[in-house]
Amino acid sequence: MSQATQDSVREDGIIASVSGPVVIARDLDARMNDVVYVGKEGLMGEVIEIEGDLTTIQVYEETSGVGPGEPVENTGEPLTVDLGPGMLDAIYDGVQRPLDVLESKMDSAFLDRGVDAPGIDLEKKWEFEPAVSEGDEVAPGDIVGTVPETVTIEHKVMVPPDFEGGEVVAIEAGEFSVTEAVVELDNGEEVTMHQEWPVRRARPSKDKKTPREPLVSGQRILDGLFPIAKGGTAAIPGPFGSGKTVTQHQLAKWADADIVVYVGCGERGNEMTEVIEDFPELDDPKTGNPLMARTCLIANTSNMPVAARESCIYTGITIAEYYRDMGYDVALMADSTSRWAEAMREISSRLEEMPGEEGYPAYLAARLSEFYERAGYFETINDQEGSVSVIGAVSPPGGDFSEPVTQNTLRIVKTFWALDADLAERRHFPAINWNESYSLYQSQLDPWFVENVKDDWPEERQWAVDVLDEENELQEIVQLVGKDALPEDQQLTLEVARYLREAYLQQNAFHPTDTFCSPEKTYGILTAIHTFNDEAFKALEAGVPVEEIQSIDAAPQLNRIGVQEDWEVFIEELKDEITEQLRAQY
Ligand code: ADP
Repeated sequence: MSQATQDSVREDGIIASVSGPVVIARDLDARMNDVVYVGKEGLMGEVIEIEGDLTTIQVYEETSGVGPGEPVENTGEPLTVDLGPGMLDAIYDGVQRPLDVLESKMDSAFLDRGVDAPGIDLEKKWEFEPAVSEGDEVAPGDIVGTVPETVTIEHKVMVPPDFEGGEVVAIEAGEFSVTEAVVELDNGEEVTMHQEWPVRRARPSKDKKTPREPLVSGQRILDGLFPIAKGGTAAIPGPFGSGKTVTQHQLAKWADADIVVYVGCGERGNEMTEVIEDFPELDDPKTGNPLMARTCLIANTSNMPVAARESCIYTGITIAEYYRDMGYDVALMADSTSRWAEAMREISSRLEEMPGEEGYPAYLAARLSEFYERAGYFETINDQEGSVSVIGAVSPPGGDFSEPVTQNTLRIVKTFWALDADLAERRHFPAINWNESYSLYQSQLDPWFVENVKDDWPEERQWAVDVLDEENELQEIVQLVGKDALPEDQQLTLEVARYLREAYLQQNAFHPTDTFCSPEKTYGILTAIHTFNDEAFKALEAGVPVEEIQSIDAAPQLNRIGVQEDWEVFIEELKDEITEQLRAQY
């Protein structure tokens, strides 16, 4: 959160009443969404309603002990984030206060109230390398230089979108803090490495394009059956314990985005601690550098105040858009948007607004769609291409997908990964239900897979989908009459489907090799199962009984491909063995 706001206090008001995170002030000269400091301790809040001389404020900190008569100061500025080098490798709370700085300021892990800190270090010196020269014309959004932000990411210093732009009259390489001017323009404008941006407003772009590249996740069921595009939107709904968090972590670790913004939005405190402790230990598989060198964590646990939960999503997406403007592919994970919606519901009920479905405010759908709308594959204002992909976990109470947050999310997102309690119970992981999930990006991403992986990628996938569909239908009969009552060819289809489930769809996030599966390997596993299918049906036609086909010892090896490092050789040998063993039976 910006420090600058504190210096520009305009007007004072007085607290009239306090109700949890909601404070009503009297005689405050304010506009909607102004940031205010509430009470003697100066707790940060935001104006959310104005009626006559009463102003309603949502406060981002615990308000116990704050009472009527205490002062309220208005900064006259909206809630902004500090943008600049230093955001990667950082861990923030919902209003972009760096947790480590807060902790050292307060000397404890329990956050005190009224403590503020800038989102980026204002003193740290960065090595600035100019990208333009004196005499060059620069426009808003243009990149004027770079800074090595982390070992992985080069930070691009841009002319802020709200500048006029003009001719560069002074620029030089050297060490600068984010508040020092690195470029001067002929109209007097000075570019620093620090920008501020109001979180509730999307950063401008030139155009939104149709996404045509997948955000490769390294998870077979996602890349293979339900891919998300770079710049796409996805939702992962699922009951407690079905794997939302593991899936989000897998994506944060393995998705081929340049930058990851991970918003832990009010999940249980200890889960977020896991992320905070886990992530700094992990290496980026692509570069070998620490994963945090491309990651920004926003950690709002459920024991933090409800209003900070409401804002964390906006803080996260604004940071994502800022890196997008540099031309990067950014992936934002939000875990979980249900907690975010619940924060909205709590504040709405304190405001005594007319409740909509299940007590959620009537504007729930609008807020969700405003958020997901900020995803996309963009042409930036400096004519680069950059993307923001948004993946939101949804935790419907009792796993009931008919509740309002899941339903409203479903209307917006184009990829739906439905987690399933039954699969999780059977230890089928990732517990993504292949009958209920979908991706509307499939046809626009197929050309990429055809070109970059294999030309029959779409056909192989369709084959797998058909077998799984057939299994689904046959299961109903099996439940009535038992498997043995089926004709032999259908029994064999069930066997092939079982390998699809066990060798292809299942993937162990905790196995060092299986945790990530390249699209080539994903395709390879499918072709191995397909080979088994074709050879098995040939054997059946030649009169080999189905039990004998099922009993060859090579087939169960299909389930071991996932854990092979040297999978190409393994698959080739396995295909030969399967073929040999089946042909030997007739
Ligand atoms: P949720 O966030 O939906 O409550 P989690 O993501 O914490 O659920 O997952 C619950 C448990 O399921 C994990 O602790 C883990 O044991 C198991 N699990 C989930 N996904 C996988 C996976 N892909 N591979 C292995 N185990 C998994």
